[in-house]
Amino acid sequence: MPPTHEVLNQPPPLAGYDLYDADPVLAEALGREGAGWAAERVRALGALAGSPEAIAWGEAADRHPPVLRTHDRYGRRVDEVEFHPAWHRLLGTAVSHGLHAAPWRDPRPGAQVARAAGFYLWSQVEAGHGCPVSMTFAAVPALRSAPELAAAWEPKLTALAYQPELAPVAAKAGALCGMAMTEKQGGSDVRANTTTAQPAGDRWMLTGHKWFCSAPMSDAFLVLAQTLASARAPAPAGLSCFLVPRVLPDGSRNRFHLQRLKDKLGNRANASAEVELDGATGWVVGEPGRGLAAILEMVNHTRLDCVVGSAALLRQAVAQATHHAAHRSAFGRRLADQPLMRNVLADLAVESEAATMLAMRVAGAFDRAAGDPAEAAFRRLATAVAKYWVCKRAPMVAAEALECLGGNGYVEESGMPRLYREAPLNSLWEGAGNINSLDVLRVLARQPEGLAALLEELAPARAAEPRLERAAAACERELAAAAADPMALQAGARRLVERLAVLLQAALLVRHGHPAVADAFCASRVAGDRGAAFGTLPPGLDLAAIVERATPKAG
Ligand SMILES: Cc1cc2nc3c(=O)[nH]c(=O)nc-3n(C[C@H](O)[C@H](O)[C@H](O)COP(=O)(O)OP(=O)(O)OC[C@H]3O[C@@H](n4cnc5c(N)ncnc54)[C@H](O)[C@@H]3O)c2cc1C
Repeated sequence: MPPTHEVLNQPPPLAGYDLYDADPVLAEALGREGAGWAAERVRALGALAGSPEAIAWGEAADRHPPVLRTHDRYGRRVDEVEFHPAWHRLLGTAVSHGLHAAPWRDPRPGAQVARAAGFYLWSQVEAGHGCPVSMTFAAVPALRSAPELAAAWEPKLTALAYQPELAPVAAKAGALCGMAMTEKQGGSDVRANTTTAQPAGDRWMLTGHKWFCSAPMSDAFLVLAQTLASARAPAPAGLSCFLVPRVLPDGSRNRFHLQRLKDKLGNRANASAEVELDGATGWVVGEPGRGLAAILEMVNHTRLDCVVGSAALLRQAVAQATHHAAHRSAFGRRLADQPLMRNVLADLAVESEAATMLAMRVAGAFDRAAGDPAEAAFRRLATAVAKYWVCKRAPMVAAEALECLGGNGYVEESGMPRLYREAPLNSLWEGAGNINSLDVLRVLARQPEGLAALLEELAPARAAEPRLERAAAACERELAAAAADPMALQAGARRLVERLAVLLQAALLVRHGHPAVADAFCASRVAGDRGAAFGTLPPGLDLAAIVERATPKAG
């Protein structure tokens, strides 16, 4: 029988390539931000991330969502979540490469950047397992405010061993940590938490509920609860932070009950649970009554990962779109050579390049903050600024990149629907857009050295690029005028944060980026010569060079 048809004009799968070598923006940033020494190990992870095997793990983890098992066959509570083996491969690889802990294991200059680069590459395979990786990474600095707990837990949280079975911490080769702050009545406003903690000897008993608790199979959680003073053991009332393990030192299960898993948007591989704390045992982290200060260290580090994770999502979306357009023809020409498609792809690539550069710059500030007050001030402000803007861009980029693949982009097998579903998450988590913008205002008001450090960062690029100079001066004028009216300042917070982010991205591109990308960014984002959708870059730019730079060369 002759075949009914031949398959023509379909691109080869984007597999068997090295995500690191295909991404010059990342490689350049790695060297610039002080982690050139890590290039080989980051490249190895990039090669693994582009292998057909790893791509298949990502697909399988998405196709086989986790299942909650509340009880065993005899009716005893077990509160376990069962994951597909592909999930364990993804998470095990992340842990064995130190994506959850490398800067704590070996805090050399550039360690944060090297780890962020690895996270950026590996999370492009599948985003969901990045959640426990990030939370474990972020929990360590917070836990250090409780040295006794840190002594028991840090060696396990930073070990390169992945051991998913629940066991007392002393018996574990490696452990993971999550966070439980959000309750039904409030997630942004955690001061409204109603979970209570009562002292019981050297520990506390926590009673209440948590409404959105991701990676519930982690070994421990940092949990916020209201401490209650008692006659026997007076404690300052207020929100406090606790380490709550799943398994107690005697081997019994803690009273940390998983009620149900969320049926949610976003990735399908990771689980998020509703949790009942029914007299669960916890140990206080930091001072009782100062829980927000204690957990802030964790939040700062997970916010960094929101930026890095969203930059990774942008990069993967652009890689898929440019790859498709390089191999698909319509109306007698490759899509990538059609002038209008080239404008769309270039516009997306510019956004992705700016996001990657900003993410790595912020990661560099995490490295340098301890020994450099200006970098510490920059880190505080720039993390919130970047978290707002890079995460906000993700859904738009994912939607437009998906359209570049035409109908194929709407089909699960392409991987684009996974990117699209995941795209809004990082903006919502760890401070939704408004909360994050208001946080920027708080930093501007309380830590003026943050703005000074940011302006210092802009200065050399302002001198070199008149479009940036004009926009930065206008932003400074607006800031000065708004300072007189706090309510107007709040209403305009998103506008201000977006401007600061764009100025920062422009400054990085002008100083260190590809000239064609910097020119396109300044023309469109800084001088405002563009429309609201992607693909509206003005004439006169070198779009071909921008698209060529962004297109992965598959092996
Ligand atoms: C996939 C996923 C995983 C998550 N995992 C975890 C987890 O592991 N642990 C955890 O603790 N939480 C987790 N969360 C919860 C998340 O952190 C909260 O949903 C988030 O903080 C928002 O809280 P909320 O849902 O109560 O919304 P609300 O606080 O009610 O906010 C609703 C909206 O109002 C806005 N808003 C609030 N206050 C103001 C204001 N003053 N001015 C202007 N606008 C305002 C917010 O920006 C938001 O857009 C997760 C959420 C998701 C989606």
